[in-house]
This record gives sequence, C-alpha cells and structure tokens, in this order.
Amino acid sequence: MLNILIIDDDEGDRKQAKRMLKQSGLDCTVTEAGDVEEAVEACKSQTFDCALLDYQMPRFDGLAGLQALREKAPATAFIMVTGQGDEELASAALKRGASDYVPKRAITPGSVRRMIEHAVDRAVLKQKLEEQHQALQGFASILVHDLKAPLRHMRVFSGFITEALEAGDYEEAAELCERVDHAGKRMEVLIDTLNEYNKVSGAKVAFNKVPLLFILKNALENLSAIIQERGVRVTYDTLPEIVGNEPQLVQLLQNLIGNSVKYCKAETPLVHISAEKVGDSWHLSVRDNGIGIPEKFRKEIFAPFKRLHTSDEYAGTGLGLATCKKIIERHGGRIWCDSEEGKGSTFTISIPENPS
Ligand code: ADP
Repeated sequence: MLNILIIDDDEGDRKQAKRMLKQSGLDCTVTEAGDVEEAVEACKSQTFDCALLDYQMPRFDGLAGLQALREKAPATAFIMVTGQGDEELASAALKRGASDYVPKRAITPGSVRRMIEHAVDRAVLKQKLEEQHQALQGFASILVHDLKAPLRHMRVFSGFITEALEAGDYEEAAELCERVDHAGKRMEVLIDTLNEYNKVSGAKVAFNKVPLLFILKNALENLSAIIQERGVRVTYDTLPEIVGNEPQLVQLLQNLIGNSVKYCKAETPLVHISAEKVGDSWHLSVRDNGIGIPEKFRKEIFAPFKRLHTSDEYAGTGLGLATCKKIIERHGGRIWCDSEEGKGSTFTISIPENPS
C-alpha cells in the first residue's frame, strides 16, 4: 500500500485530489497538508512514497517548497501540480528533483494513478542506486583501510619471525606466529561479512515452511562461543512456523542476537525473542538489555557501513543490520528498531505469513 501526501492550501482542491485517488483504484492511504510547514511536520513522523505538491502555495513558491520538502523526505517522489501555462516553471521543478508535473485541470483518476506509479518506481530505483553507490564506496574504504591493516601486520610480523628464527628464539617466533594468525582471522571475518552482505542480492532463493524455533536454535548454535563466554540468558515465547529461506533467516537472527550481546555492558546479557501475529504478518522481536541506540540513529543504522562506534570500542563492519534489512526485504517484510538509551533495544521484523 502506498502512502501519499497531498499538499495544497485549497481545501476543496485537496478533497478533489483525494477523490481522484480513490476513483483511480490505487491502493493507498492519503495524508493532507495545507502548507509546506505542515507537510514538513508530517514528513518527520511518516515516510511518504509520493507527494502531490501544489505549485502555488502561500509563503513558499513551488521551487522553494520542493527544496524544503526534498531535504526532509529524500526518498519521496514529488509530483508538482501546476496551473495551466506554468510549464516553464514545471521544467525548473523537474531540474530540481521533482519526478513529474501535471496541470491541475488535467488530473484524471487514470493519469494520476499512472503518474504516481511511475514516480514511485523511479524513486525506488533511485534509492536502490544510491544504496549501491554507498555500498560500493563502503567496500572501497574497507579494502583500503580495514583489510590493509591486518595485511600490514602480517607482513611486519613475518619480518620479525624471520629475525627471531635467525636468532634461534623459537619462543618469540611462536608468539609472533600467533599474531599473524590473529591478523589473518580478522581478515577472514571481514571477507565473510562482505560476502554475506553481497550474497543476499544474488540469485533467487528457495522459500520453505520452517519452524522459527529451528531457525533460532541454529542461530544460537552459531553464536555458542560468545553466548557461553558472556553468560547470555536467552528466553523466547512460543514461536510459530514461518515461510522463508532458512539460511538467510538464520543469518538474520544471528546478526540481531549477536548485536544484542556485543552492544551490552550488563553483567548478564538478556535476550528475549517474541512473536506476534499482526494482520497477515508475523512480528518477530529480539529484545536486549544493552546500551540502547539514540533516537536520531534508529533509521540510519540499517544503511551499509553505518556504525555508531569505533573498532576500538566494538569490533564490526557496519554490515550486520544492512544484511538483515536486505534479507527481510527479500521476504517482503520490514525491520525497525525501538530503544531506550542505556536500557536496551528491541529490533522487530515483520514477515508476511506467505511471502512470494
Ligand atoms: P556492526 O555491529 O558491525 O557495527 P551493524 O550493522 O550490525 O554493524 O550495526 C550498526 C550499528 O548499530 C552498530 O555499530 C551499533 O552502534 C548499533 N547497534 C546495532 N545493534 C545494536 C544493539 N542491539 N544495541 C545497541 N546498538 C546496536
């Protein structure tokens, strides 16, 4: 279902646009805003797929309004609604990032539907390109910095090993070998993480019915070393059977539970997994008693390579949650985070009962 925003100072015109949308048969929910300020407010609490923006608005001219809104809602597709004969202005709006324009009188249920569907498709593609671009830049930076550091260590330590062997100091040589091994392991983890992230966008995978408890047990098995070491207490509700790709779902839970443990300073890390049926979807939550996440970062953390800490504080690549997001989106679902700083976080995924 699409989330649409109508921005027009004329209440009658807003009602008319709403009626057109209803008649168009588009599956959507509609929010109305009487001016740009009201629209900016609405964009703070909701993400809109598309906004129909009247060109003639009080205080803001169409272009300034468009600019203010695009800053607040970069993923939203904007369609300028112009007066007759405003085509020149409309073309300026297109240059500034509007997806399309339509003269007010030319709006029909059919045209508005086509326009919104095209604009939303283009906005989704643009967003994907942007994410890929960010991912590529992140990959390049990982190659240059994170992979280079252990490689440099290995070369330096190899030199020391040669020296230690020449001096007959086998104890020192053995110690240095361990450090080479450590650097090698760090590279391996980095490469595995990059690979996991990339793999999710690969070929179509099989979806099967699988008990969530089975997925959870596998994820916990893969995390058994850290769970033992930190004395983690894991609890869970009655868990349903869900439909999806088993290895990807294991990876998803593993990343979420792994983070719950990693970003926790409590003596005993607590992790609780719950499941609730909401409409046609399952909402599955992983709750922890960790350090929490400041509100302003709760969306950003799902972007590739976004980290809130340095590697000295907590090891990581910033790909764990981006991988979770990719996985759940491939299942037609969503992921989000609620948190109370200093008390803990809850990551929830919604997964359709029958993903296609
Ligand atoms: P990484 O753990 O490799 O840094 P992620 O993508 O898994 O990458 O997480 C991104 C950021 O989100 C982390 O750097 C961390 O700051 C924050 N984060 C993720 N999960 C949690 C959690 N359960 N509690 C607190 N912070 C978290």
